[in-house]
Amino acid sequence: MVQPKLPFGVVAARPPHPATVVQPKRPLGALVQRSQAVDVDVEVDSEKGAKFERREQVWEGKRKPVRAVVHVVAPGIGVEVPNDDVSFPLFIHDTLERIRKVPIGDQLIREFHPKRGFRRPAEKLYENITLLIEPMADTQLLETKSFYGRKLDGNWDPGKDRWARTPKIVFPNRPTDKGASLTIGKGKMIGFKAIPSSVKVTPDGITGHDDFPKETCGFEEVLFHEFCHAYYFQIGASPEYYEMPYQVVGMREEMLVCGLSAGRGLEYCENHYRVQSDLPLRTSYKSQGLEDKDVSPEDWPGKTFVHPLTVLGILEIKEAKILTEGTGNWDEAIYP
Ligand SMILES: [Zn+2]
Repeated sequence: MVQPKLPFGVVAARPPHPATVVQPKRPLGALVQRSQAVDVDVEVDSEKGAKFERREQVWEGKRKPVRAVVHVVAPGIGVEVPNDDVSFPLFIHDTLERIRKVPIGDQLIREFHPKRGFRRPAEKLYENITLLIEPMADTQLLETKSFYGRKLDGNWDPGKDRWARTPKIVFPNRPTDKGASLTIGKGKMIGFKAIPSSVKVTPDGITGHDDFPKETCGFEEVLFHEFCHAYYFQIGASPEYYEMPYQVVGMREEMLVCGLSAGRGLEYCENHYRVQSDLPLRTSYKSQGLEDKDVSPEDWPGKTFVHPLTVLGILEIKEAKILTEGTGNWDEAIYP
């Protein structure tokens, strides 16, 4: 059956993607096409402190016990901390509330609802969690990783199969004291000279970033950016290019996530969020050699969107197959 060409992520009258705990191995080249956004309640009352669903687990550990407390701050989205301090889960919850004021932000947060069928770990602690967020320590990187679950001693289990992992964002807490800051990253070596990182987390956001030398980036834009990484990981785009050379991986991933070059006009990308928030567009991701000075709000006309496969460069042939042969469920489709 020939299906009409619809904006990515929109599927007409199809049953929702079956939600399984750990989904089967996905063939290389397939992206997950899922159901139309289900009407989900993402309200969480945090007024009286941490009123999220709270889960806890302690493992024996090799030297000392490992403890994890998971707060479910939105359906499918867990914030994990090692103790009873709720400042980080509350900060993430507040940031999500602000992201949800932007239409594309609200839409992306709903993508992680467990009913929509993204992968999640099998453990009870992470039941229905399709995206985990944990606090970053000083000089750590702010980044999106992935995990399979936990080992018997509580250590992270990366799993054997990259298609079975769940995304995990490492994000800074907001410094509470005025003037306090947290340095991100270890800096770089130029010849034998170590240049310390200039990227800092302040109470207002992130400063000193190469791509935004004069600005403080709000936590919302930065967290939305990481959510895009998590989304592309979940739909199978990011694991797709693990096979590609290292330089290609980062650049393609950031084209998708930032909405630069081939990624202009994508539905889920930082620049779409910036267009809808009336913020200046991001024009580069210098550490990945990516620069696009001509990107403009007109690249997001808002009706149809660029397809992620076009950014991956694996392109039309697969899209044509999806549109002409597919059941609409890319997860089950097999592409060469
Ligand atoms: Zn990124």
